[in-house]
Amino acid sequence: MIEYQLIRSKRKTIGMQVKPDGTVEVRAPYLAPKFEIDLFVRAHEDWARRQIARQEKARAAAGDVKVMTDEQFRRLKKLARQYIPGRVAYFARLAGVSHRVSGVSIRCQKTRWGSCTANGSISINCLLMLAPKEVLDSVCAHEVCHLLEMNHSARFYSEVYRIFPEYRKHYAWLKKNGSILQSMVPRGD
Ligand SMILES: [Zn+2]
Repeated sequence: MIEYQLIRSKRKTIGMQVKPDGTVEVRAPYLAPKFEIDLFVRAHEDWARRQIARQEKARAAAGDVKVMTDEQFRRLKKLARQYIPGRVAYFARLAGVSHRVSGVSIRCQKTRWGSCTANGSISINCLLMLAPKEVLDSVCAHEVCHLLEMNHSARFYSEVYRIFPEYRKHYAWLKKNGSILQSMVPRGD
């Protein structure tokens, strides 16, 4: 099933919206059971995918972004697997959490740049290989610091800035340009 963000409110019906960044938002009444929402999502999944594809096309046309070929995308994933784990290891050492990293996986999903679980499994988005090196580093620094603080508190950010002082500037690049990277993924992926 398509990934979506669920927002419950006082409304009476379930509704779905594809946002400009390609994420899917589902709004539902407070008491709507999860299975009912999932049924709704499944029924509208094709529609949502078409919307997302249309938006990507429009974005690509506007910014003259080239959608990668399947072969280019495959090579990107391979390069990412070779390069990114070393950057995670580097920042994990700086943060003093090397022993807590249980694994680094490379994901190519469109929705998240990185994630970190409590048991030390870190995942980084392969599309970051297409961004400036410091942008990828900012995501690696962010995720390893979650092994110290599993939140986005001031303490978390003080650790991030300690190991990567230029963090803010580079991480912010993603807000502005992230959708361009996302629109380079071949359709069907
Ligand atoms: Zn975070």
